[in-house]
This record gives sequence, C-alpha cells and structure tokens, in this order.
Amino acid sequence: MLDRMPLSDALAAGLRWLYETEQPNDAWMQHLGQSIPVADNRSLTFAPSGANQLPVIAIEVSWPTWRKGPAGDLVPGNPLAPNELPRLAAALEQRGFSVRSTWNGFPAHSGSVGLARPAHHSQYAAVERYRAGCREHPARSVFCECDSWHAGFTRAVRPLALISA
Ligand SMILES: [Zn+2]
Repeated sequence: MLDRMPLSDALAAGLRWLYETEQPNDAWMQHLGQSIPVADNRSLTFAPSGANQLPVIAIEVSWPTWRKGPAGDLVPGNPLAPNELPRLAAALEQRGFSVRSTWNGFPAHSGSVGLARPAHHSQYAAVERYRAGCREHPARSVFCECDSWHAGFTRAVRPLALISA
C-alpha cells in the first residue's frame, strides 16, 4: 500500500499544482478537484475553480464512520477535530495565501477553505473545458462515455504525478 504523506507535504504539492502547474490546453478536469491521500485517515482535495471560480481546498476523512446520535439519527463517528479546519486555514495564511472563507469542519467529516488568489489560468481553463462537456456529443455533456471525452481527463496533470516524479 502506498504510504500516505504528511499533510504539510500534500499541502505544498497541491499548492504547487494549483498555482504553478500548467495544464495542456486539450485536457479537462472535473470541477470537484483532485485529491491527495494524507496520513491519519485524511485527504486533501484541491479544486482550481470552486466557489466564485476561485480555488477551494478541502480536508476530509478518507474512511468516514457513522454512529447513532442522541436523537437517533446518524452522525459522524470520526469527524474532523475542532481545530483541524482552522489549522488548515492558518497554514495557508502562513504560506502567504489569503483565506476568503471556510465551510463546514467539526463536527462534520469534511471542511473547506476558499482562497482569494485565482489558480493558474490553465487550471481554471481545464475545469471550464470540463464544464463545457463533450465537444463531439454536446447532448451528452459531461456524462459522455466516448473515447475522446475520456482522453481529455487522462491528459490532465494530477497533483500526485508531481509528487511521484
Ligand atoms: Zn463524447
């Protein structure tokens, strides 16, 4: 099994990917972003164009569990710690990235940080190409299954590719 890296390494790699990595102009990527598995049952997901077309970084529990809450409903059994999302936001500020806002976090399984600085224009453009859907089969939009639609995803540079390189 692949060793899961420390969160700070994943953060550095993801930021390098978001801001410095050029996507080929015939590649596209899903709008929800690209994930890096990290230590302690966590993943970091980097979305170049989230809320307001600006980057969003999410921290989430990789293998969530659920338990019965006081009202008998299901609640997260292994949520983020109360300080996890604020700590991620602080780490980003420390690296010089202004935080616009944060969403969710404890007691949920995931939380997100919105950044003020736009991603590399080619990262943004790759997400826009995804949103535009398959060129050859416009009626099928992003749900197309044809080879040329699939090929665009494989041409995209992923953050994990930067790490293993
Ligand atoms: Zn197609």
